[in-house]
Amino acid sequence: MFDYEYPLNVSDLLYRARYLFPNKELVTRYPEGIHRYTYGDFYKRVCKLAHALDKLGVEKGERVGSFAWNTFRHLELYFALPCTERVLHTVNIRIPDEHIAHVVSVAEDKYLFVDEDLIPIIERVQDRLDTLKGYIVMSHSGKVPDTTLKPVYSYEELIEGEEEEYPFPEFIDEKSTALMCFTSATTGFPKGVEYTHRGIVLHSLVSSLPDAFNMHERRVMMAVVPMFHVLSWGYPFACTMVGAKQVFPGSQPTPKDLVELIEREKVNYAAGVPTIWLAVLSEIETGKYDVSSLKEVLSGGSAPPRALMESYDKYGITLTHAYGMTEAYPLVLVSRLKSYLEDLPDNDRYRFRAKQGLLLPCLRCRVVGESGQEVAHNGEEFGELLLRGPWIVKGYYRDKERTQETFGDGWYHTGDVVSIDEEGYIQVADRTKDLIKSGGEWVSSVQLENAIMAHPAVKEAAVIAARHPRWDERPLACVVLKEGGKEEGKKEGIRELLSKRFPKWWLPDEILFVDEIPKTSVGKFDKKVLRKDFGDYYIGG
Ligand code: ADP
Repeated sequence: MFDYEYPLNVSDLLYRARYLFPNKELVTRYPEGIHRYTYGDFYKRVCKLAHALDKLGVEKGERVGSFAWNTFRHLELYFALPCTERVLHTVNIRIPDEHIAHVVSVAEDKYLFVDEDLIPIIERVQDRLDTLKGYIVMSHSGKVPDTTLKPVYSYEELIEGEEEEYPFPEFIDEKSTALMCFTSATTGFPKGVEYTHRGIVLHSLVSSLPDAFNMHERRVMMAVVPMFHVLSWGYPFACTMVGAKQVFPGSQPTPKDLVELIEREKVNYAAGVPTIWLAVLSEIETGKYDVSSLKEVLSGGSAPPRALMESYDKYGITLTHAYGMTEAYPLVLVSRLKSYLEDLPDNDRYRFRAKQGLLLPCLRCRVVGESGQEVAHNGEEFGELLLRGPWIVKGYYRDKERTQETFGDGWYHTGDVVSIDEEGYIQVADRTKDLIKSGGEWVSSVQLENAIMAHPAVKEAAVIAARHPRWDERPLACVVLKEGGKEEGKKEGIRELLSKRFPKWWLPDEILFVDEIPKTSVGKFDKKVLRKDFGDYYIGG
């Protein structure tokens, strides 16, 4: 037994789904067709997988990797490993080969579960995966295709014939690690974080509150946000806990696949990054699909343009804005209107909804200016957001130096520059490294981007700092037009739109039309690449 209260364990989330919702469905899209089963079937396969892991000789506390899309098999791994006191390490499938080799070696993964269509990537790096004792292929057919991976097992064959019950440990130390993942690195190698049983349960409970994700049994949930990145925002756990029907988009889902799933499975709630919602909107606008079941989309990871919220509102779909990060399991802020703000004029309501939102219960924050003082809550002063709480990680995995840098004083320094208004709504102005410092004053690239994306002709916009002889840095806007092309005349319209909202010195000195904005492995604008291409752009020289 434990010297503290009853521990918070992931296995209790599994227990509830098994007892109360054995008939609720879990649906996965495969190119070959839809796979459907229930929480009852799911539980039996988690037990079989637990036995298979025993036979493979995976010890308590050891890490096992997954290299996979959002599927029911990935969900089985999400539970079978932590519930048997092992650790699932979700590896991001979109990072460079050398990063894959790095994260597998730092985590010392013992086995790697790989989706069939991702085998070629792992074949490329297998020589550098020294800690692995074998590969387990997850394929729709259950068979292993021809591969150079060695030794290789089939997931289905591995669990076949195993018992459908498992004596899961009754009490697991709640402070032990259940899952781990790495941030997608903006500089240097990715940083590892560990998610504990306690953190996952508390995050599931609090993120499910009505003013947060508002999760409940009636949800038909489609998480587009990948299970290889920040626990798919915790949805696999929260959904299983409340017994929601889960719809997994599977391998390489296109926007068309997503709307088809929404129509067929009557999805009423979905989550992903704004670029996904932009692409899905184009499909909805074709009028070919019945998406009337969809009531809410959760948008996070980067700021959605207000125009996107307005477009979804027209279809009766609320786009709710949330904010978080790998270091926070990830949820920190959700932007829902307080009841007494509902009656404000449209413009003001969108102003609040477009902010990143209100702090979740149990978390604490400070917004600290350059002098180290907390900024006033007036929505105007900027400072770095610091966080503390039961699901803010304590540091980076086996990385003392970067832990000290980011967590040294007991607060997690997010690297995000924010303001906080009188109502407590937090707005992200920028990442510290993306801020544009013009003549010693900060210009927020994010606010400019969102304003530019409100222009009807604009598809995407990213604003970065260009060098300037007098002001040091000045904003440079890279813009993709909806119709493509580089029509010079559109620049005037964009400038006019911005001049209505921002002081003159915020307006970009230059607007460049580009064919596309490069994206990171998780679909955010990759300003690092843009800076490489255009950062030496010299304005006024
Ligand atoms: P990475 O992008 O490096 O993989 P994360 O996925 O953990 O890391 O991203 C966390 C960061 O993403 C936050 O620190 C913040 O800068 C940005 N972010 C997350 N949500 C939002 C949001 N709603 N609006 C603006 N920025 C956001």
